[in-house]
Amino acid sequence: MTEILRGVLRVERDIFVLRQCGREVAALVGLDGQDQVRVATALSEMGREVLGVGGADVVFAVAEDPARLVVDLYSRGRLDGAGRTPARQAAARLVDDLAVTDEGGATRVRLTRRLAGGALPADVLSRLSAEAAALVPATPLEELAAQNQSLIAALEEVSRQRNDLTRLNAELQETNQGVLALYAQLSEELEETNRGVVALYAEIDDKSAQLHAASEAKSRFLANISHELRAPLTAVIGLSRMLADPSSDPVTADQATQVALIHDSARGLLVLVNDLLDLAKAEAGHIEPTWDDVDLPLVLRQLSGTLHAIGPRPGVALVIEDAPADVTLRSDEALLAQVLRNLLTNGMKFTEHGEVRLRCRAEGAQCVEFTVTDTGIGIAPEQLDRIFEDFYQVRGQLQASVTGTGLGLPYARRLTGILGGTLRVASEPGVGSTFTVALPRRPAAAAAVP
Ligand code: ADP
Repeated sequence: MTEILRGVLRVERDIFVLRQCGREVAALVGLDGQDQVRVATALSEMGREVLGVGGADVVFAVAEDPARLVVDLYSRGRLDGAGRTPARQAAARLVDDLAVTDEGGATRVRLTRRLAGGALPADVLSRLSAEAAALVPATPLEELAAQNQSLIAALEEVSRQRNDLTRLNAELQETNQGVLALYAQLSEELEETNRGVVALYAEIDDKSAQLHAASEAKSRFLANISHELRAPLTAVIGLSRMLADPSSDPVTADQATQVALIHDSARGLLVLVNDLLDLAKAEAGHIEPTWDDVDLPLVLRQLSGTLHAIGPRPGVALVIEDAPADVTLRSDEALLAQVLRNLLTNGMKFTEHGEVRLRCRAEGAQCVEFTVTDTGIGIAPEQLDRIFEDFYQVRGQLQASVTGTGLGLPYARRLTGILGGTLRVASEPGVGSTFTVALPRRPAAAAAVP
């Protein structure tokens, strides 16, 4: 601790000097205006009390760690250490620490105020003592005037702070009102949006129920109508075959031609009716796959047999590649064969030169892919999605010369879906097309079936 000023407190007038010294030493050690007034006022309060028990020696010092101004009043009289006089309570509020200790019959009153700027350098400390010693004691009147100035400054500060507080309160209230209004508006908008969303969902639910009902009605209609048409058509085919039979009564050459026409038309119609019936069944979810380990070599052999019997066009090769030995698949053999047959038949219909090829291979550990590639007329990019629509056929020269219903691809795609897979196409007009059936090796639906 470095002592910077020493003095005595003996008579009433000394209190003014003590107060003045307090303020000026506080200023010298770097305390701000308010802190100077605090220290001065605390000293004057305690000085009065100490004067009541006979006065004191006063020591101003600067201590370190933490850096603080320490003022000790050593009194020969006794002050009650634990007493809480109004003067002491007021002084205690003005400094950081106020301690009254009994020191062998005398009393030490120590007031401490921390220095916000930290420890003072040694050269400043040594200069302080000299500057403090040069302080000229003021008259009580001067000290009173200084005290009044401080009071006025303090009052102004309080009133400024009160004004600030009032303004801040008003601003806060305004902000609060703004926030509340915004919140109310937001919740109203949210509620409105929610109502809109709920209404929209209700409408979507409604529409999808209607769509579902319409699609069911269509499937039912197709199934019933096809079913009803099949019997008379089979009869027409049978009867026309009988009429044309050489063992029946002879018919004229013209009649034979007409009967052949009736027979061909009825067969064409039966193909369409059968396709319609298949599609209706697939759409209505009436096709239940029979899951089993597929004997791929057998399926491919049978396909090759049937399709070679129909025969591709002259100059077109139908190539069914052998399945790699490691490819195993759990699926429905009949449905898979149906899908591949549709794709291969299409390839043969729309290829005039080159080849139609079926290849099967493992695609990763989970999937098996069948690709039907042809070197035929190909399909324009804008038609690629449309060929999977019911009854859609691409207009073209070749189309007129081949039979078809426009139901083969939609049916193949639905069957592939039922088998848990996908059917996609890539094509280039004039170069050829590749249809790919990707099937899971172990479909989730098949897992439930032993
Ligand atoms: P379709 O009974 O007419 O063959 P699909 O549904 O099987 O009916 O095919 C729809 C249309 O897609 C066909 O009419 C044809 O225009 C086109 N198409 C299908 N496969 C091929 C292919 N391999 N090459 C070129 N066009 C094809």
